[in-house]
Amino acid sequence: MLMPSRPPTDRARPRERVERLRGRKAVEVRKRRMARTDGLCERCDARGLTVFATVVDHIKPLALGGTDEDSNTRNLCDPCHAEATAEQFGMRTARGIGRDGRPTSPDHPWNRPDRT
Ligand SMILES: [Zn+2]
Repeated sequence: MLMPSRPPTDRARPRERVERLRGRKAVEVRKRRMARTDGLCERCDARGLTVFATVVDHIKPLALGGTDEDSNTRNLCDPCHAEATAEQFGMRTARGIGRDGRPTSPDHPWNRPDRT
């Protein structure tokens, strides 16, 4: 993920409270964001796994001042979302078994893309 070296100028305006979108508009936005990765989890994809995403996650959480723009979102499955959330909020990354019965750790041999 490339980040601009300087924040965009519109960041200079007084910060408004970012509200989560709701209703029909939110559904459309979610659909558009999911379509970007064909509904697949980006983290799993990076590991060579094909897993449907269930969550549109904010890369920089709204709670930490992130923006609600497409460029600040990524599509994740439940285990990856739990992992990402733990990382974002400085908690120990949860390691264990995902809902699909696979280990969630990217370091686990099962999750290495070069596995034969
Ligand atoms: Zn995933």
